[in-house]
Amino acid sequence: MPRVAYVNGQFIPHRDAAVQIEDRGFQFGDSVYEVVALMDGRFADETGHLDRLERSLRELRIPMPMSRKALQIVMRQLVRRNRTMNGGLYMQVTRGVAARDFKFPKETAPGLVMTLRHATFDIAARKFSGKKAITVPDIRWKRRDIKTTLLLAQVLAKQEAIDAGADDAWMVDDKGLITEASSSNAWIVNGKEELVTRPTTGNAILKGVTRNAMQALCWKEKIKIVERPFSVKEALQAKEAFTSSAVALIVPVVEINGKKIGNGKTGPLTEKIFDLYMEYAAGLNRKQERWSED
Ligand code: PLP
Repeated sequence: MPRVAYVNGQFIPHRDAAVQIEDRGFQFGDSVYEVVALMDGRFADETGHLDRLERSLRELRIPMPMSRKALQIVMRQLVRRNRTMNGGLYMQVTRGVAARDFKFPKETAPGLVMTLRHATFDIAARKFSGKKAITVPDIRWKRRDIKTTLLLAQVLAKQEAIDAGADDAWMVDDKGLITEASSSNAWIVNGKEELVTRPTTGNAILKGVTRNAMQALCWKEKIKIVERPFSVKEALQAKEAFTSSAVALIVPVVEINGKKIGNGKTGPLTEKIFDLYMEYAAGLNRKQERWSED
């Protein structure tokens, strides 16, 4: 079954999908994106992702390429045409195609690209396969609250981690405080059994949709979250560490800068949160209409 992509109004074979060379997303990174998990035929946290997409676009003064309802129809069409029930849907909205010039073009329609990548959610394997992280300086621009495609700093951070024999990078601000991981939010459990994560105020990090869902779940379960910046030193002394993001979900981090975190295995609170999130995702699914099998 060949993969199908959506590009500016057309569904086409993924291998033939292309954008115009003067697309501003390509030339300036003048675009935003979202990644949504497709689990058992339903999108996880669809509303949260679409809310954030609209917000990112508003912040950059890029209009929505179509109504939310129409966007949701394209998302569902893409799933049908790819005949998959599990994976990650990527969507990117650019300011559109125009002769290269820094100022906003006049009367240019925004561009929309969507792709779907099949993935399996092997829950047991994911829960117990702890990852290694290194810390790197956070060299990104200051509007990290907007989900733009300006991802070069994260590309370099991730590669630095891979070159160092690790899996991911946790980025550190000028004060020695962790901002977030290269493509996820960062969490630690400290010696006082507090679940600590950086607040989303001040635009220093992305307000993760998975992070939001987790916050609500923890609140319901009376698991206290302390929202404050934490240092590299605290991360190294943590009992547990993990990251959260849409398709990778909850990822245990068992080593940072070569130092074992806790006993070097997925910690009990991480495991609990992992289970809560999976239960929540399954519950969301029960509430949603099954549309991908039509
Ligand atoms: N932080 C960064 C820098 C990210 O790139 C991502 C996801 O791509 C996240 C956090 C997690 O966001 P979400 O949970 O909405 O996927």
